[in-house]
Amino acid sequence: MYKFPEAVRKTYEALEIPFLIMGVEEGMPKAILFTDGFLKFQGVSRETLNELFHGDLDGNLFEKVHPEEAAKLKAVSDDFVLGIQGDYDVIFRTRRADGYHRVHAKGFRQRMKDGSDACIIVYSDMSAHEDIASELAEKYSLLGNEGFFIDYLTDLPNINYLHAYGQDRLMDILAMEKTPVLMYFDVDSMQTYNKQYGIQKGDELLILTARSLQEEFPEGLVIRGADDHFVVLDSIESREKLGARIKAVNRRIKHEAGGQTTGIHAGVAIYTKGKSIADGLDHAKLANKYLGEDLNHCYRFFEKSDMEDLINERYIVENFRHAIKNDWIKIYYQCFLRLETDKGAGFEALARWHDPERGVITPADFIPILEKYHLIHKMDLYIFEKVCSEIKPRFDANLPLLPVSVNFSRQDFDYINVPEELNRIVERYKIGRYNIDKSYFIIEITEQDMALGTENFYEQLREIRESGYKLWIDDFGSGYSSLNVFSRFDIDLIKFDMDLLRHLDDHNGANREIIKAMIGVARKLGVHTLCEGMETEEQKAFLKEAGCELAQGFLYHKPEGLDTIFHRLGLGIPIPAWETEEERKTLSEKW
Ligand code: C2E
Ligand code: MG
Ligand code: MG
Repeated sequence: MYKFPEAVRKTYEALEIPFLIMGVEEGMPKAILFTDGFLKFQGVSRETLNELFHGDLDGNLFEKVHPEEAAKLKAVSDDFVLGIQGDYDVIFRTRRADGYHRVHAKGFRQRMKDGSDACIIVYSDMSAHEDIASELAEKYSLLGNEGFFIDYLTDLPNINYLHAYGQDRLMDILAMEKTPVLMYFDVDSMQTYNKQYGIQKGDELLILTARSLQEEFPEGLVIRGADDHFVVLDSIESREKLGARIKAVNRRIKHEAGGQTTGIHAGVAIYTKGKSIADGLDHAKLANKYLGEDLNHCYRFFEKSDMEDLINERYIVENFRHAIKNDWIKIYYQCFLRLETDKGAGFEALARWHDPERGVITPADFIPILEKYHLIHKMDLYIFEKVCSEIKPRFDANLPLLPVSVNFSRQDFDYINVPEELNRIVERYKIGRYNIDKSYFIIEITEQDMALGTENFYEQLREIRESGYKLWIDDFGSGYSSLNVFSRFDIDLIKFDMDLLRHLDDHNGANREIIKAMIGVARKLGVHTLCEGMETEEQKAFLKEAGCELAQGFLYHKPEGLDTIFHRLGLGIPIPAWETEEERKTLSEKW
C-alpha cells in the first residue's frame, strides 16, 4: 500500500491534535495516517489501527460509532472521500470508556502538487465543551494548496508550518531568555544553475542547502520556502557568531555542490519587542533584498533605516501617477557653456519631484525606484513631452531656444518604441512654428546603459539618430568604459562624468591625461565633448586648455525651473549670456 513519505508521517503522527489525513487519488483512498491526538481521542493504540488498516483501507473506523449513526456517518464519509461532497461537517456519537460522547468532525480537501487530494478530518469532543474542529478547520484550510506542512523535496517543514507554529517557537525562545532571530536565505542564481546543470542537479543543490542549514543550526527551525528560499528561526548570541555560521553554510555549499555556484545569501532580522514572525520574515527578506547581488557578502542584518527606505519606496510608487497628474514633477533646466565663447549653448532637462508633503525629491531618490517598478518610461516620456510643452512659453518670453537634452533609461526601450513615441509627441507640438526641428532635442543615454543594451535597444538608438535627434553619451568614464561605442555607433557627443573632474590631481593627474587623450580621440572621430561637474575656475581653465568644447556645472549655472528663470527675467537680474543660433552653427561646425 502507498505510504506517506516518512518525514510527513513522522511530523503528523506526533501531533496532539486529533485528526487523520487520507491521501486520495482519483476518488480512491491510497494512504492514511492518524495523529497521536486521534489515537488518544478514540482510545485505540497505533498497533490496533495499523493492524486494522494493514494492506487496505477498508478498516472499520466506525466500530465505536453509535449504531443509529454509523450508516449515516459512513455515507457522508464516502461522499467526502469520493469528492461528491466537498465539505465534511458532521456531529455523531461515539463510545468512550465513560459512555457515549458527542463528537464534531470537520473535514476539508487540499489539492496536492502531484494532482492527488489530501482529505483531512479533525475531531473534537463536544461533550468536553471544546470544539477545536471548527477552529482548526478554519486555520488549516487557510494553508493553501502547496501541501500541508512538509516540503517533499527536502523533507523540511514548509512555510505553512512556520505560519502555524512559528509564533509558538518564538515564544519558546523568549521563554528561555534568548533573543530570537529570523534568517531568510536564497540560493544564488538558482535559475542559471538549473539551466546549466539540469533540474535534478538543481534539486540536489536545494537538498544540500537544506542539510547544511539543519546541521549548522541544529537548534533552529529550518523551513523551506517557495522556490530557492529557506527560512531559519533560531536564537542569536552575537552578530559575529551568527555571521560565522552563515558563512560556514555558504562555504560548504560552494564546496560540495555538484557544479559551480556562488552559494547563498541571507537577510537576518533580530527580534524586536512586539514583532511577529510575519514582521520578522518581511524584515529578513528586505535585508536580503538590499544585500542584492553583492558577492562580497553573504549576509546582511536588517536595520531600522531599511524600513524607512521601504516606506519611501512605497510612497514613490503609490504616488507616481498622482504626481504626474497633479504636476508635481517639474523640469529643472541646467545651462551648459561653450568654453571658447563663455556663452550658454543648451540645457539639460532634469526631473524634480515637488512633493506637497515631503518637499523637493531629487532624481537619485526616485529614478532607481521607478526603474525597479518598471515605471521609468512613463516618467521619461512625460519629461520629454513637458520639454515640448515648455517651448511655447520660452518662445513667448523671448528666451533663446537653445537645444535641450533629455535623459532616457535603457529600460524605456523595452517597454515602448522610443523613436516612435518621440516622433508622435514632437508632431503634436508642431515645433516648426518656433523655427526648430528634431535636431533641437538631444537624447542622453548613459555609458553604462550603452554597454549593456540589447539589439532592440541599439536599433531604436539608430532610428532616433536617423530621425534627426541628437544622441549623447552621458557619464562617460564613470566605470563602465566601453570605447567600442565609438566604433559601433554614430554618436554626437560624449559627456565626461563629473568624477573625472573631481579627481583631476589624483595619481599624478591621471584624469587630466585621460580627459585630454579622450578629447583628442573624440575630435578625430568628429564627436563633440562636454564635461560635467565644473565647479571651480581652475577646472574651467583646465577644460579650456584641454580643448573641451562644452562644460556643465554649478560654476556656470545651477539647475532651475522655468518659473525661476522667468522670475529673474522679470526682475532684470542677469542670466547667463546665451549664444545665438548663428553662433551655434558656426562654432559647432568648426569642431
Ligand atoms: P546626469 O544626467 O548626469 O545629470 C547631471 C547631474 O549632475 C544632475 O543631478 C545635476 O544637477 C548635477 N550637477 C550638474 N552640475 C553639477 C556640479 O557642478 N556639481 C555637482 N555636484 N553636481 C552637478 P540631478 O538633477 O540630481 O540628476 C541626477 C541624475 O538623475 C542625472 O544625472 C540623470 O542620470 C538622472 N535623471 C535626472 N532626470 C532624469 C529623467 O528625467 N529621466 C531619467 N531617466 N533620469 C534622470
Ligand atoms: Mg544626463
Ligand atoms: Mg551625467
